Amino acid sequence: MRKQIAAANWKMNLTLEEGSKLLESITSNSLNLSADRVVIFAVPFPYLISLGSAIKEPNMFLAAQDCSAHNNGAFTGEVSASMLRSIGIEYVVIGHSERREYHNESPALLQEKVNRALEQKLNPIFCCGEPLKVREAGLQNEVVENQLKESLFHLTGEQITGFIIAYEPIWAIGTGKTASSEQAQEMHQHIRMVIEKKYGKNIADSVSILYGGSVKANNSKELFTNPDIDGGLVGGASLAAADFSIIINSLKAGK
Ligand code: PEP
Repeated sequence: MRKQIAAANWKMNLTLEEGSKLLESITSNSLNLSADRVVIFAVPFPYLISLGSAIKEPNMFLAAQDCSAHNNGAFTGEVSASMLRSIGIEYVVIGHSERREYHNESPALLQEKVNRALEQKLNPIFCCGEPLKVREAGLQNEVVENQLKESLFHLTGEQITGFIIAYEPIWAIGTGKTASSEQAQEMHQHIRMVIEKKYGKNIADSVSILYGGSVKANNSKELFTNPDIDGGLVGGASLAAADFSIIINSLKAGK
């Protein structure tokens, strides 16, 4: 059964106090959670320990927004997967387009980050997605397929089973321009087909593929209803308790 996931990406927003209030407010709403519906909050590194106490539901988790490609050593400012594991973190976002763009993260580097995460038994939320120029040229399927091949296809079937991929068209992130439900479903179906070709149908069916790019309270239900859209990675709308609660409650039951 693949999980349906609402993942919040706070990015570099909120003070600790604001973040605590936001979490409290979300958890005090009546959320329609079950074993196959998971909520993840990717919060800034300094908050990972203290916000742990605000997570009371069994299927709610904190995530880091990144991890190092190295295990340890002279890498000032970096945070390793083993450090995250040592404080009980189970999820980590890898390859967000903002990291790819502003920190020049290459597919090879992302492959190493995925390896470090898996070595520590962290669940990567691996982001992929095309820029506007690529979409306008109609090359999005190829580009996303290559992103997956270059950073994930060295993994074994066992490692890909239950994996989380977030498809985030860059032109839709933080722009208010959401991919249409059809565009998103089409790409998610393509991603699942690419995984199926390499790993087989059972494994492809176990992978949760989240959509990211201006998911809002008023479009989440329509997006998540699609058969290959297993929830969302949500930036802006995850900073408002009422909106994110509606997004969580838009998740369909796991399949
Ligand atoms: C994101 O941060 O990954 C994202 C999709 O942001 P937004 O929802 O604001 O577009």
